[in-house]
Amino acid sequence: MNDLFKALVYGKHVSLSVLDTTDLVNKAIKIHSLTPPSAVLLGNLLTCCAYMSGCLKSERGAVSITVKSRDGNGSASVSGDVSLHIRGYAEGSCRDSLKGGVLTVIKDDGFFRPFVGACEIECDDVSRILTDYFLQSEQIPTAVSVGVKLNEDGSCAAAGGVVMQLMPGCPQEVSDRAKERMQAFADPAEVIQKYGARGAVTRFFKDEIDQNGLYLLHPDYICNCSRAKIEDVIRSVGRAELLNICAEQGRVSVHCHYCNTDYTFDKDDIEKLFDNE
Ligand SMILES: [Zn+2]
Repeated sequence: MNDLFKALVYGKHVSLSVLDTTDLVNKAIKIHSLTPPSAVLLGNLLTCCAYMSGCLKSERGAVSITVKSRDGNGSASVSGDVSLHIRGYAEGSCRDSLKGGVLTVIKDDGFFRPFVGACEIECDDVSRILTDYFLQSEQIPTAVSVGVKLNEDGSCAAAGGVVMQLMPGCPQEVSDRAKERMQAFADPAEVIQKYGARGAVTRFFKDEIDQNGLYLLHPDYICNCSRAKIEDVIRSVGRAELLNICAEQGRVSVHCHYCNTDYTFDKDDIEKLFDNE
């Protein structure tokens, strides 16, 4: 099971999140048969996305994070919703060339227009990239430390991280203490493997937690696609065009990148889509 502990610490001046996303990352590795570099990149982005999904307020809230390499050959994209259903995929190889690429974050709280933040990527470290993003695009001082530790067989031994976000008006002295504490999470996957998310919260923040504000969420790797949703999408293409594709290719097929599922529709399936018209 994956854990996301959220709490207010240091006299409620700092919002703390500690995540164990080991299962989630293992699911991603399995679904996409990820190579180790892709598993680390996608795993770290999934952890960041789980954190950001845990911050969504609206029932219809959703967030997505995309990184594109400078040469355009590689990209990785993750998205999550308020139910903490997290999913993602990686394309090409961008592990070595993220620097100079672009990070795009889309946050939709379901009320107004979605918030879109984009910034140039200045290094290959996802923790730094997200730390820079929060400061530049959201103007919130945030410390992000995420990590993925792999077994020799390519599966995930531990993944997760810690995020500390300063509340408005946070005194300098508190911010310094938070920064110092962050050093305990230089290797966050190691900490999660050793203590788990709950254990890490207890070990490093026991005396600082506001007990009323502590709560636990469970993110998971879940894709929200379904045959019914895909039917809605292809219906908009129109009966004639779909039948054309069927005649040429034998069927209409749609691939979901997030869960690696193929949906196929033959001529009869397509006729059925338009039965009521
Ligand atoms: Zn899917």
